[in-house]
Amino acid sequence: MTTEQKYLSSANYLLERIVTSTSPFHTVLTAGEDLDAAGFVSLDFNRDWELEYGGKYYVTVYDSTLIAFTVGDSMADEGNLRLAMAHTDFPCFKLKPSPEMKQNGYGRLNVEAYGGMLNYSWLDRPLSIAGKVALKGEDAFHPEVRFVDFARPVATIPSLAIHMNREANKGVEFNLQKDMLPIVDILEESLGDEAFFCAALAEECGADPEEILDFELYLYQCEKGEIIGLNETMISSPRLDNITSVTACIKGLIQAQRGTGINMAVLFDHEEVGSRSKQGAAGSALPYVIERIYLALGLTRDRYLKDITDGFALSVDVAHAMHTNSPEKNDPTHPVKMNGGVAIKIAARQSYVYSCESVAAVQALCAMADVPCQKFVNRSDMPGGGTLGSIAASYLPMQMQDVGVAMLAMHSARELMGVKDQYYLEQLVMCLFGFK
Ligand SMILES: [Zn+2]
Repeated sequence: MTTEQKYLSSANYLLERIVTSTSPFHTVLTAGEDLDAAGFVSLDFNRDWELEYGGKYYVTVYDSTLIAFTVGDSMADEGNLRLAMAHTDFPCFKLKPSPEMKQNGYGRLNVEAYGGMLNYSWLDRPLSIAGKVALKGEDAFHPEVRFVDFARPVATIPSLAIHMNREANKGVEFNLQKDMLPIVDILEESLGDEAFFCAALAEECGADPEEILDFELYLYQCEKGEIIGLNETMISSPRLDNITSVTACIKGLIQAQRGTGINMAVLFDHEEVGSRSKQGAAGSALPYVIERIYLALGLTRDRYLKDITDGFALSVDVAHAMHTNSPEKNDPTHPVKMNGGVAIKIAARQSYVYSCESVAAVQALCAMADVPCQKFVNRSDMPGGGTLGSIAASYLPMQMQDVGVAMLAMHSARELMGVKDQYYLEQLVMCLFGFK
């Protein structure tokens, strides 16, 4: 395969994963399918584990977080733990429990914002709905759960015509309760059916409407991503943040081996809303799982605590490339470029987790993997965003570094990145998990 073919192969593989990663649950299902195909054994979060050296396993945490790991043939004296972490969620709109709104002959859905998206980018697009539904089950604490993905355009949020707002091109403020509700149907007046959505949902998940107790359903943009540009140098797609990282972490874990120690790919939910949940990066799921791995392998808690301190983790999320039309928004001496290699994210206030040693380690890994890297820093008068690395580092005191692909239009319904950067990111994660 030529180098150009490798770039395109990674980009197309990513676009395939994005098609089925339509909610945090479906991101986990997609990753689980890849791990199943690679021979990983699925473990239950709340059951006993029998682990073996040389084995490969994964555990899902409340359906929207996934922790996968491989155990080497033995443990080394040091440097046993290597982690690559990403997030399964993305900014979007989430359905409220009683979402139906019938007004002026239209069937609309009542939704609330999940995370910080660019509102206008969600207008006039074909949207679909995915998530999970809880049905009446055997007992109160165990409802029957079904995952659902309409997988076709069923909704859209129409913008207001310019004739009705001549000021539209001077900037529009969108009220989340008034302006961002999707339409899903034009209803016949005679029908009088107030539960038009729940009836469709019940049909979609093969249940009776009265069986549905609750759901966690998200709108998603269902136009497919594409490789674009005169010379196919860019990827335009929904959910690049953060399926780029999810894909690199899972692919790296499946393909790389290093003989000793434990490699872990950790995919957290709820990053876009602050990570504070039982399956978010601010929760205890990850340290619980690592400690249980050690105990199941017959290792001591003391060994677990020691290995935490000399482990290494990548927190993999996206970075801001130099903008085409607003270059002044980026830092003057750190002009990060698309197709310029892995962005190493650095922030004095630790909103990106870093130290000079962890930056140096990533530079060394990139050199070994023969891929370029570049340092990203925010403008001094712009705080920028944060991600899960700093949160995880607060309870996992190991060297940890924020990295990711450089992109434009972050948190738009459709984002833009360089076609080479997915390959570069995959090579870095592969090197982390394979370097002895
Ligand atoms: Zn992200």
